[in-house]
Amino acid sequence: MKKPVYLDYAATTPVDPVVAEEMVKYLTPDGVFGNPASRSHGFGWQAEAAVEGARRQVASLIHADPREIVWTSGATESDNLAIKGAVAGKNNPHVVTSMIEHKAVLDTCKWLEGQGVEVTWLKPGADGRVSCQQVEGALRDNTVLVTLMMVNNELGSQTDIAAIGAMLRERGVLFHVDAAQAAGKTEVDVGSMPVDLLSLSGHKVYGPKGIGALYVRRSPDVRIESQIHGGGHERGMRSGTLPTHQIVGMGKAFDLAGEKLEQEKARLESLRKRFLSGLEGLDGVTLNGSAEHRVPGIINLSFAGVDAESLMLGLRELAVSSGSACSSATIEPSFVLKGIGLDDEQAHRALRFSFGRFSTEEEADFAAAQIVDVVTRLRSVR
Ligand SMILES: *Cc1c(COP(=O)(O)O)cnc(C)c1O
Repeated sequence: MKKPVYLDYAATTPVDPVVAEEMVKYLTPDGVFGNPASRSHGFGWQAEAAVEGARRQVASLIHADPREIVWTSGATESDNLAIKGAVAGKNNPHVVTSMIEHKAVLDTCKWLEGQGVEVTWLKPGADGRVSCQQVEGALRDNTVLVTLMMVNNELGSQTDIAAIGAMLRERGVLFHVDAAQAAGKTEVDVGSMPVDLLSLSGHKVYGPKGIGALYVRRSPDVRIESQIHGGGHERGMRSGTLPTHQIVGMGKAFDLAGEKLEQEKARLESLRKRFLSGLEGLDGVTLNGSAEHRVPGIINLSFAGVDAESLMLGLRELAVSSGSACSSATIEPSFVLKGIGLDDEQAHRALRFSFGRFSTEEEADFAAAQIVDVVTRLRSVR
């Protein structure tokens, strides 16, 4: 059987073959397998040099200083470290977030609520964006942290992080941004965006799973409390032996992402247009999220009169997702779609198509044709 067309790049990406090739050099007896923390011999020094090279590559994509990059096991851990680490030890803290964050942020904030922390859950606009005025309106004297995502994983909509960051900087409130879906898809520049903490993941950017990073600003100096203790790695912020091959993989992946950013943005923009024009013959199709402020590769569509479960069953030749990857085991309607004001029925009619580096025009055409066929068939049997 032919493999389905992969249209779930927002859930994860394959490792770029160039990245995989680099990673295997850091595992075997003839490779650089040493512990980067071993200071007494060359095995360790070589591994450390590789880790520091990758740190420069990741820092470079977001225009940070390499000393501001802390390795973690992924964006989930980065989100946990940033949020719990910023709130720890604060007296009567208040946190502001939104209803459509990734579960790594939502569940962390819910856990904090259980610990007695006050949390404000902002409802974004129908376009999936939280406004600067909304955030400002939610601030209190005891607000210690605002945490918002840059690009939403289900909608692709992009929040104005620079404007919100500038306002929060003036008010002296820490700002954490989950940029797992932004890095490699749009410009992420901590030089022009006043954020304090920023989460990154390897596997959304053609790197391996199980590796991520947290950007922690040095000027002005941001202090967070570590959540994993032992050994004092990563300047005490995250202990644990560094996984050299994973780190080298993420470094190479981020380097490639920077090199390809402009070209890929343009290519995905044209794939998006092509895919959507392939659906023009179909009526009752609506785009969920912002049509304007968004990344090109993530397209969330509702199909009138057709439920997403049946549609997905019909689209066996496409690998797509309804709701986010993390809640795809349940058939609860997506909390993100409900968060932007869709009712249960509308939310049940939505599918996310996400394109990436290895998507082709043929795949976009094939996907559109399949959707037109299946939606037409499902509507005719109603
Ligand atoms: C995938 C994703 C995460 C989780 O990243 P992991 O590296 O898989 O832990 C967090 N936030 C967003 C927005 C994501 O898309």
